[in-house]
Amino acid sequence: EAQGSTSTKPTQHQHRSGGRLAHRSFNHEPLMVNSAHGLQIHLANGQTILDACGGAAVATIGHNNDEVKAAVQTQMQQVSYVHTQAFTTRSAEDLADLLLEGGPGGLEMALFVCSGSEAMEAALKLARQYHYERGETERVHLVARRQGYHGNTVAAMSVSSNVARKLPYQMEGGGGLVYPHVSHVSPAYAYRYQREGESEDEFTARLLREIDDEFQRVGPGRVMAFVAEPVVGATAGCVPPPKGYLAGVRALCDKYGILLILDEVMCGAGRCGSFFAFEQEEGVTPDILTMAKGLGGGYAAIAGVLMHARVVDALKKGTGSFVHGHTYQAHPVSCAAALAVQRIIRRDGLVERCAAMGEVLERLLREELRACRSVGDVRGRGLFWAVEFVRDKDTKETLDPGVGFGVKVQVAALERGVAVYPGSGTVDGVRGDHVLLAPPYTVTEEQLGVVCRVLREAIECQEAKYLG
Ligand code: PLP
Repeated sequence: EAQGSTSTKPTQHQHRSGGRLAHRSFNHEPLMVNSAHGLQIHLANGQTILDACGGAAVATIGHNNDEVKAAVQTQMQQVSYVHTQAFTTRSAEDLADLLLEGGPGGLEMALFVCSGSEAMEAALKLARQYHYERGETERVHLVARRQGYHGNTVAAMSVSSNVARKLPYQMEGGGGLVYPHVSHVSPAYAYRYQREGESEDEFTARLLREIDDEFQRVGPGRVMAFVAEPVVGATAGCVPPPKGYLAGVRALCDKYGILLILDEVMCGAGRCGSFFAFEQEEGVTPDILTMAKGLGGGYAAIAGVLMHARVVDALKKGTGSFVHGHTYQAHPVSCAAALAVQRIIRRDGLVERCAAMGEVLERLLREELRACRSVGDVRGRGLFWAVEFVRDKDTKETLDPGVGFGVKVQVAALERGVAVYPGSGTVDGVRGDHVLLAPPYTVTEEQLGVVCRVLREAIECQEAKYLG
């Protein structure tokens, strides 16, 4: 009834959900949004929120862009849906061309689905089919990292490190709704894993040795793919790898004929200050790359799977197609929305702007949060930054998980009119608490100033309560 109301005066009901949507915690009362423009989200209760996280690192060009709305409307008027079995559309073809122009890292073909999880599910099945086509039937094992989130569908969840999310689906002795042939190696997470006195090069070398050892343990001829986010998103909070890590992983995969799947669902599409996050390291060419959030910028539910020429060749020489499909793949309206978003990003130099504003954000964050007792680490790339909270900066001791410090900071920031994204992940028994900042690339220096000031206030307020 609230949505049907024509009154502009907020009522008690307008910012209540009605309670029939099962999207989040059953105890959670979400805020009702009436409209959003640029970086501003207008609530039914009259409050305006500055969107400093783009939802979950989704909004790249801000909300309510007229050009994207026009592109969607035009597409709707021309053709709202056809099935890819027999048809294609200009929007889908042009979107693939735009992303693959110049063959980044040897990537040659694209598949468009509706979510990051679907993209990861497709990527994992694609890796399996690649080996199948080559007669490598023994290659069934996946190696991922104990710090990484790849989605909620069965295979994507299986390679993720979120133990709690898998529990209800596991069966004794392995299997159940969890793919059993998966193992995890250490995260490339310098703040918690780089040893005292260890140089960055030594840290990288140690991580790579561990991956090599894991390939040897499983049997290199049994490994299908290595899966990683180039810059880890929500599970550990914007963690870039040490120098040389991704190139080293690529070299190891090449040595054993293992495919490299890079998950850029969160960190891709310009978010880290280069269009693909992997481009920031020389010599890294994924065999399969997934992207999602920033692809449609929030205007459409769309995700992409980009394939290297060698994967495409194997499929062409074998079965002749990827044995996988969804009714709504390459949906014309979603593709039109994503195409409009990506054209704006290119035309307006927004990836470059993201890199430049990222430097401003880093400076402001470090200045504002310097004196905060709970801020253990500030890290990120481009406009993808996280603040990790600890009880003790020297020992890096984590806060009591029962407190949910990151969520408390998020709520306090929201009350002060700024949206940040909370995160926590347990890696090797250590529960990290952090908040994530990922504003649209159109953010101004002034807005970043407000975000950092409000974040400091929200943190200080929680420190007073929980650190004494
Ligand atoms: N991969 C990464 C790195 C993600 O951050 C996410 C979502 O947060 C996913 C995959 C799953 O994407 P989706 O939520 O669109 O299914």
